[in-house]
Amino acid sequence: MTSVHLCGLKKSFAGQIVIDNLDLTIESGSYVVLLGPSGCGKTTTLRMIAGLDTPATGKVVMNGNDVTRVAPRKRDVSMVFQNDGLYPHLTIEQTLRLSLQGRCAKSELEARLSDAVRIAGVGDLLGKLPRQLSGGESRRAALAATVAKKTAVRLLDEPLSGLDVAVRERLQRDILQWHQRVPGTTIHVTHDGSEAMRMADQIAVMDGGRIIQMGTPDQLYDQPQTIAVAKAIGTPTMNWLQAELVDGVIQMSEQSDVSSGSALRVAAPDGPVWVGVRPKAFHNSTAFDTSARGQGITIRAVIQDCRIVEESNEVIWLANGSRFLAVFARSGKGSKLSIGLSVGQELSLWVSAADLHVFSRVTEQRLKLGDVG
Ligand code: ATP
Repeated sequence: MTSVHLCGLKKSFAGQIVIDNLDLTIESGSYVVLLGPSGCGKTTTLRMIAGLDTPATGKVVMNGNDVTRVAPRKRDVSMVFQNDGLYPHLTIEQTLRLSLQGRCAKSELEARLSDAVRIAGVGDLLGKLPRQLSGGESRRAALAATVAKKTAVRLLDEPLSGLDVAVRERLQRDILQWHQRVPGTTIHVTHDGSEAMRMADQIAVMDGGRIIQMGTPDQLYDQPQTIAVAKAIGTPTMNWLQAELVDGVIQMSEQSDVSSGSALRVAAPDGPVWVGVRPKAFHNSTAFDTSARGQGITIRAVIQDCRIVEESNEVIWLANGSRFLAVFARSGKGSKLSIGLSVGQELSLWVSAADLHVFSRVTEQRLKLGDVG
């Protein structure tokens, strides 16, 4: 298997910097997801790993060897393109055979083909042309070509975008099974945070042509280091409360509906901060055992809407004129009132200090919440 190191990559198009001093280390055999908004440079990064684009400066290193100037064909890398990259005039079988040309001995070809057809589930598609395929079938066919190539590094550019939920979930499972059964390093690009959370061993969050944080899904969910990462990870997204840091203590003064039982301290210069709260971190104070509470904040809220989403109740509420979202597990089935809440009701919500994410509004960096008291 193969490790991939990207060291100080820079790339511009028409004078515009697209990749800006990007560093990334991908362990051999891992499944890494590059996550970031449209235009942040994800595809360009994949193309530089594949050798389809050359960085202006910096190095692409595989297993310790500098491959920055090595031709794509000579790298042990394959790529599934965002638009599937199938040849319109060739059947899927012809495409698969073509993708193996020069890559394996004749005696091995039929076995490779039948493995790829089975793993990617394209047995019924072999005689078809790309225009005769659905979106999901087309993705599978493109994946089959990569499976057949058996490269040490596999690059998947948005392999699940634009597919309906059932097709996406099935393909997601099949891709993960393939990654687990056929040794290799897989790098997958998406702008979908939930997809990244479900599939990755490690997520590398990109913004503005750089990696802004890398870690396991849990690390990024629990300890986002910047506001951009906090917004990219977690569905539904975080709620944001405005606050000020005064003499090292968080003051929720602008939000008269928010109070903290005791001082929440942050060791950072005074200034404006954002306090982020994940929707699942709210507790309904009236239903919550107060003796089990540690330190945290209490918010007075008025319920604006309650809706059932799968196994949860999503509750939209207002505090001091702003809209927030809380998600509560549903105890019974079928009723909006299964957690005893109704529209117009006032309630008191509580969040543990351990579930507060504090960021400077100036630097947008995470600030460490210190001792409470
Ligand atoms: P998306 O999620 O929308 O696919 P991305 O994060 O993959 O976006 P890239 O495709 O890497 O982003 O593009 C990054 C930036 O570089 C964009 O502004 C894009 O317009 C620009 N760009 C990419 N390739 C070229 C090119 N060949 N010529 C000029 N500009 C390009």
